[in-house]
Amino acid sequence: MNDFEIRLHRDCGSDLNGSGIKVIQVNIGFRCNQNCKHCHLDCGPLREEMMDWETMSEVLKVARAIQPELVDITGGAPEIHPLFRKFVEDLCRDGHTVQVRTNLTALLEPGMEDLPQFFKEKKVHIVASMPCYLEENVNAQRGNGVYKKSIQMIKKLNEQGYGKIHELPLFLVYNPGGPFLPPDQAQLEGDYKRELFNRFGIHFTSLYTLANMPIGRFWEGLKNQKKDDEYMQLLVEGFNCQTVEALMCRYQICIAWDGTLYDCDFNIALKLPVREGLPNYIKDFNPGVLSNRRIVTGVHCFGCTAGLGSSCGGSLTSN
Ligand code: SF4
Ligand code: SF4
Repeated sequence: MNDFEIRLHRDCGSDLNGSGIKVIQVNIGFRCNQNCKHCHLDCGPLREEMMDWETMSEVLKVARAIQPELVDITGGAPEIHPLFRKFVEDLCRDGHTVQVRTNLTALLEPGMEDLPQFFKEKKVHIVASMPCYLEENVNAQRGNGVYKKSIQMIKKLNEQGYGKIHELPLFLVYNPGGPFLPPDQAQLEGDYKRELFNRFGIHFTSLYTLANMPIGRFWEGLKNQKKDDEYMQLLVEGFNCQTVEALMCRYQICIAWDGTLYDCDFNIALKLPVREGLPNYIKDFNPGVLSNRRIVTGVHCFGCTAGLGSSCGGSLTSN
């Protein structure tokens, strides 16, 4: 057992097991137009890993078979994948609810002009990175000029009705700008709504607060600053049993660009596929065996269970 599992046993008296597959998260590739300091997957413009159509077809087959509540598409910047639209179209044609995780600036790349309209037509849900409502904090984390472009794109999405009407949800994502835990989600959402509306007339549906995980570029940056031990201590000391029930790995399966199955996107970053002995490739997908699988954990999991908890859908508990 690793330290996380020991703590889970000691404090919560349980293992970490799946509880059905409600969400299929598909990471269609690591290429990204940005190169953010905190990226856990080390994505960027030079990454070449991209899901091929054969693998996407297998994902479509699995989605048809298990009818998840949501197909959540991520990357990299998924929009810049050449097969992105076809994949979304086919998922929507099959009747799935599709969600896309965007960094917003990718939607301003050449050839993307009509994507907001495409999203609206397909009723795609949008989750967009916006780590602060202040320009200097966003640019420090995501690169110069990113804030202005993000604001521009949120306005365009608002024009399509995103963040304003129920069937076109726009979720913004906050993550801390340093080695500290996110604040209370509801309170911060209130601040975002007030500031973004007062400054730009912007609307959005809700805010998701995510913790920075002790992996990838964020972790390398902390090591360079010799703040890694301090941050890990914060996560370990913040362990909160009340987050465990809602951990995202318990309700989803993640499919990487090459078709390998993982419990979550962080495990993709760490190259930790689903538990040994289980079918771990999309072609061998077996819902009966995978639904209640034992989750593969590591010390990085303390990033999900600290404080109010963290997941792709925001915090897991409230104050
Ligand atoms: S954090 Fe998101 S936007 Fe930034 S480099 Fe990684 S995938 Fe791209
Ligand atoms: S890092 Fe992944 S496996 Fe670990 S608790 Fe978080 S979601 Fe679950």
